[in-house]
Amino acid sequence: MDKVTHVVPKLHLTDHGKSASPRMEYPPPFPDSQLENLVSDIKDWQITHGSLLKLVNTDQDSTVLTHAVGACLFPTLFPKEQFEQALGLQKVYNKLYARVAEDEEWLYDTLKDDEFARVLWDIHKEVKKEGYVQDHSLGIFRSDYMLDANPAGQVKLKQVEFNTISCAGGIHSNLISDMHRHLQRRGAYVAAGLDDTTASINISASHLPPSHTLSTITSGLVSAHTLYGPPKSPDAEQTCILFIVQPRNFNIADERPIEYALWDQNIPVFRVELSPEILAHTSLTPTRELLYHPPSRAAAAPLEVSVVYLRAGFEAEEYSGPGCGDAREARVRVELSRAVKCPSILSHLTTFKKVQQALAVPGVLQRFLPSSGEAFNISSTFAQLYPMDASAAGLEARELAMDEEVSEGYVLKPSLEGGGHNVYGSAIPAFLACTPEEEWSRYILMSKIVSPTVQNLLMSPQGLYKGPVISELGVFGVCLWRRSGEAEGRVEMIGNTEPCCWSFKTKSKGVDEMSVVKGYGCFDSPALVDNDVFMACCRDDEQG
Ligand code: ADP
Ligand code: MG
Repeated sequence: MDKVTHVVPKLHLTDHGKSASPRMEYPPPFPDSQLENLVSDIKDWQITHGSLLKLVNTDQDSTVLTHAVGACLFPTLFPKEQFEQALGLQKVYNKLYARVAEDEEWLYDTLKDDEFARVLWDIHKEVKKEGYVQDHSLGIFRSDYMLDANPAGQVKLKQVEFNTISCAGGIHSNLISDMHRHLQRRGAYVAAGLDDTTASINISASHLPPSHTLSTITSGLVSAHTLYGPPKSPDAEQTCILFIVQPRNFNIADERPIEYALWDQNIPVFRVELSPEILAHTSLTPTRELLYHPPSRAAAAPLEVSVVYLRAGFEAEEYSGPGCGDAREARVRVELSRAVKCPSILSHLTTFKKVQQALAVPGVLQRFLPSSGEAFNISSTFAQLYPMDASAAGLEARELAMDEEVSEGYVLKPSLEGGGHNVYGSAIPAFLACTPEEEWSRYILMSKIVSPTVQNLLMSPQGLYKGPVISELGVFGVCLWRRSGEAEGRVEMIGNTEPCCWSFKTKSKGVDEMSVVKGYGCFDSPALVDNDVFMACCRDDEQG
């Protein structure tokens, strides 16, 4: 497991400024005392605003411990053009993935060889046999990008993956972006240590776009709740939103604020764990309303569930091992119900990396996006993607993947979520050598996105890191659609929100994975600059 390796236990200023012409430095060189103040301010801000992970193992009757989530000390430089490009694509991506979700035939064909997809597909088949009673779906998506530097010295936006279930990190990122903007306004980023041999960027408010993830996700859930309308069952007096969550959840700070924001709008929200809690505390009426029976109000009337928001159920292990039958049964009950799902089981299936790869096959995008302009703009963000099956393209990929040198430029990915499943570069041939060949088709092969590096300081429970870093931008998309045989692509878009929220994560160069909660990267926000300024600040030396 790759961890942040360059830990600097105590901060030391490096000695710059021996050259004749001013050297461009970002972050600006800070005297130790100023940096120590910044670290202290960030710690206080994080504790005060819930920028925290819960240490579930220390949860006691009367207290609980937390630690601050990994954070960047300075906002990281990112080119404005590619940031705007990513935001500008999101509504088309939302439409694309809604249409893919409603194209059962294509989806089945694409995913039929994937083991975990089969578990979900069987749930879909079982529900379809009974007949679906809800045509609407809510999408809370996140499209992830990195910058790719090509040999001509240009940077291009390339998609890492597209997520359609339990898209996390939005609230954490929102907080870190608020924090960076707070630090900027109180002058914490004005360098005291610049002399005439060093130039830097004076970060102003206009470099730091606000992110509105909390309000955007919340309004998506509100719109689905409103669309559902009043309770249909005579047994319920009120509707509510149900969050399906993982047990022993250390990342509640990324979920609870959404719940509180909904309560603030007088919408009752309850959390149930996948899966015993769902089975114990919900029931289906004969007309398929999903009723929630809050354990704390045993004698009171049940509430009718308007929207089910999944922050669980995306990992294959949740459906295998002890209790796996329960998770499946819980998912069937939810899917059978009249509640609007976020996501529906078909929309969940579109998150598979196999779908991302299949969409990149020449001509396939046009099936979903007949407008050539839209298809072109979307495909411009695709890296090279190959299947690993026995097709001609798959055999070509197998050759690339098995070559000791060539494999360095690729990432091998199974269709699994949550981080830690990919195989990177030169590790691929050895990995394949000990994986039975009949299992290779579960993977896709993707060309490595080689990001230009800039400099920053990262603070996480592993320590302080100073040096070259790489960022990943995740644009959130919120949309509501109705399945309709008559509409183009079988999808009538009811709401497709202007994207104004994103997550931004940064890791040290040399770390392959990114998950912040698993300790690889840090939450961050972008400092938007012109391309030439960004390129002028790209450096990958360790000393900074
Ligand atoms: P997961 O579902 O585990 O999040 P991802 O596809 O997002 O899977 O991969 C995890 C991380 O690995 C990404 O956040 C990114 O940092 C890195 N990564 C994934 N694909 C590539 C790629 N093609 N090039 C470079 N880095 C990649
Ligand atoms: Mg990812």
